[in-house]
Amino acid sequence: MFRTRFAPSPTGYLHIGGVRTALFNWLLARQQGGQFILRIDDTDQQRNVHEALQPILDGLRWLGIDWDEGPDVGGPFGPYYQSQRSDRYKAAVERLLAGGHAYYDYSTPEELKAEREAAEREKRPFRYSRRFMATTAAERTAFESQGRQAVVRLKMPTEGTLALDDLVRGRVEFAWLSEQDHVIQRADGTCLYHLANVVDDYDFQITHVVRAEEHLSNTPRQVFMLEALGYPRPAYAHLPFVAEPGSRNKLSKRKLDKYLKNRDFAALVEHARMIAQKIGHPVDADAFNPVIVDFYQTVGYLPDAIINYMALLGWSLDDKSEHFSRQELIEKFSLARVNKAPASFDPQKLMAFEDWHFQQLPPTRKRELAMPFLEKAGLVASPPSDEESLLAEKVIAAAGDRIKMAGDILMFAYFFQPDESLEFDDKAAKKYLQAEGASQLLAKFRCRLATAESFDVTTLEETMHDFVAAETIKIGQIIHPVRVAVTGQSVGMGLFDTLAILGRDRCLRRIDRALT
Ligand code: GLU
Repeated sequence: MFRTRFAPSPTGYLHIGGVRTALFNWLLARQQGGQFILRIDDTDQQRNVHEALQPILDGLRWLGIDWDEGPDVGGPFGPYYQSQRSDRYKAAVERLLAGGHAYYDYSTPEELKAEREAAEREKRPFRYSRRFMATTAAERTAFESQGRQAVVRLKMPTEGTLALDDLVRGRVEFAWLSEQDHVIQRADGTCLYHLANVVDDYDFQITHVVRAEEHLSNTPRQVFMLEALGYPRPAYAHLPFVAEPGSRNKLSKRKLDKYLKNRDFAALVEHARMIAQKIGHPVDADAFNPVIVDFYQTVGYLPDAIINYMALLGWSLDDKSEHFSRQELIEKFSLARVNKAPASFDPQKLMAFEDWHFQQLPPTRKRELAMPFLEKAGLVASPPSDEESLLAEKVIAAAGDRIKMAGDILMFAYFFQPDESLEFDDKAAKKYLQAEGASQLLAKFRCRLATAESFDVTTLEETMHDFVAAETIKIGQIIHPVRVAVTGQSVGMGLFDTLAILGRDRCLRRIDRALT
């Protein structure tokens, strides 16, 4: 049996670091023919769980990280929401109390604070004195008659060490003395997160706890509890952080301004904003942030590219293989080859992976992915006509690797705009259409186009070269004005491809408009 889990809190968004954790758990479960469980850590949930969870479920589904048990799919060990499992947690607290592994503590916050300050003054690590510990009913009644309220604390060992063989970090040792008597149940009777975590991992029969390294320091108290409860110890693997570009700090959704100073990061955002704006998606940091998975879905990244890239954030097969299909990752992934050091998020590499995966797709698939962007931008009908689909296919073929993600089709919006409303970029028009002699040349070239024998790329190229020779001009003097006239822009794909795709009538109409 091999069972892993991903345990997000419903935060309202799916963090890219969370994806990496989910992915590694998922790859292991799929590789081992085991189960991948999605558990919802909503013990401290104030806001609407459903609303805050939806983006996480949607993001995982979009990425193709499917779960065998959990929200929406159920499973034999449910419910999979911590907020619905309090009975289980209460029973565990009772058992810990009965076994002498936990105690009622009646200290007040002020008393604890005084102890902490005394420890600080004496420059020794703080450890609660257990002065208000009650183990008998009589002691409890006595404290309660003073108006005190009890929390439940773990009675943690004070000597010796815990040794853990972490599947990523190797042997890790913790001195029990540096642990606290952690609270597991509040005065109001509700249970705390770490207890819930231990009970759930046991109830769901989790065999491998694979999670972010920030949870390594929680492991001793969790191991203490599970051993006190007589549960088997799962295998642990603590994954390094997904770090900021070029640093070892954890990637955070709140530091976008700082990351934008990194050129590659800025390029990634800039590129995506161009697409988002054209489909009317908000681009402020709350709605549109590369630390959150939604960002990539919005602009048409491929889930396979993200999965491939994320797998390499911390894992490698052999330090040189880069491109993996999902199936290859399932076959080849291993915790033994996960790095201990934080893996820093590299926007340029992510874009390169996206590009590579996108170029592997057959043209019809590229078109299928691109059409919704044209629809959202209002450039084609919904659903698109056959003619519009054919046009998109031609544009995609001619654009080649200029289209690196589905939304990039919008760089070529001018093909889809009606001739009579094509917009001209001001700067381009001024520079190329209003340049000296440009309109005369354009008018003359228009005649050549009108009478060209056919309108394929080769003929168009010959037509242009003949024209340049006849007029004794440099090719740039005519290429640029023609491009601006038919596309409204000064950059784009090959000009002859552009003319051929538009066809004679549309080209002539556009040039006529430019000339006026
Ligand atoms: N809810 C925890 C988190 O989001 C998961 C802790 C765990 O995996 O044990 O980080």
